[in-house]
Amino acid sequence: MNSIVLPAPIQAAAVADRPEPVVRLTDVHRRFGATPALNGVSLEVGKGEIVGLIGRSGAGKSTLIRCLNGLERADSGEIAIEGRRIDRLAEQELQPLRRRIGMIFQHFNLLSAKTVIDNIALPLKIEGVAKAERLKRARELLDIVGLSGRERSYPSQLSGGQKQRVGIARALAARPALLLSDEATSALDPETTHSILALLKDINQRLGLTILLITHEMEVVRTIADRVAVIEAGRIVEEGPVWSVFANPQSQVTASMLRSVRPQLPEAIARRLSTAGKHLLLAVDITSPDAQSVLFDLAGLGSKTVRLLHGGIDHIQGQPVGRFFISVAANDAERIQKFLTSRLARVEVLGHVADHA
Ligand code: ADP
Repeated sequence: MNSIVLPAPIQAAAVADRPEPVVRLTDVHRRFGATPALNGVSLEVGKGEIVGLIGRSGAGKSTLIRCLNGLERADSGEIAIEGRRIDRLAEQELQPLRRRIGMIFQHFNLLSAKTVIDNIALPLKIEGVAKAERLKRARELLDIVGLSGRERSYPSQLSGGQKQRVGIARALAARPALLLSDEATSALDPETTHSILALLKDINQRLGLTILLITHEMEVVRTIADRVAVIEAGRIVEEGPVWSVFANPQSQVTASMLRSVRPQLPEAIARRLSTAGKHLLLAVDITSPDAQSVLFDLAGLGSKTVRLLHGGIDHIQGQPVGRFFISVAANDAERIQKFLTSRLARVEVLGHVADHA
């Protein structure tokens, strides 16, 4: 294969034109004894992006966070925040860079003896910002997170969702380049989770804030992330726009983590699958913008030929993502599969069933 080699000045210009990502990890390794907690992680988060890093327990998420905020040293690889390498800095050089990262946590980590306003203003106090100025900034932030009027409350007087709003305000106090969310909604009920995610999305859009969300919940990624990276055994096994990863997961881990948010073949039907029978059972994934009309045309082929058993169309980042299970007459299966693939659907044959439903 021919490869085009660009003259050096053009290569340099191409590199210079690319905006520096807020976070850049390149081939990061961190081992604990025989355990490779991070085994060659490369990841970028661009300015204004919301990236979800998802993985099961033990996948390496906490180690990655600790390497990012300098609490843990990588064995090898590069870590840069806003273009500045942090992986080889001494502790005192790390301090100002740590302030570029605001963090929110599962258990909020608020100081119970301090009022809401003092919790929010604390990072500014540590930075030596004058009292009047830090209280002014803290009040602005209280307004942004929808808690005006609660400045004199103590954390124990707030609900979980309100505590996380205070956590978000505190994380934003020093105007960080990156908000790092470490399982920030894992301790909240679904309704409160949604309101916190809506707040994060709003802040991202209004202030252009860059967010890296670490989570084990696909629903969190689905709701607000632009891009998702899946980590497993210390490696990024899959990465892409959220709708595309949801529509077409490439790895086994991703498919299994998506089980809770994608239609699955109902147990009762799965039990009837066999290697022979008059009907074929197909899983159909449709991501084309005319997903509804594909279904309509499919239904037009007649109920003797095709039957819709289970599934639905979701909308992720404005893209239709449909997943259906249909049974088709075995003697007509080829025609139906051709029809579906001509309409950009992905078809997987799951097996045979004796009868339609
Ligand atoms: P996650 O946050 O995704 O649950 P972790 O980063 O905590 O994953 O852990 C990744 C792997 O590294 C796990 O196998 C874990 O047991 C191991 N590990 C993490 N921290 C340490 C440590 N301080 N000492 C020994 N092993 C560790």
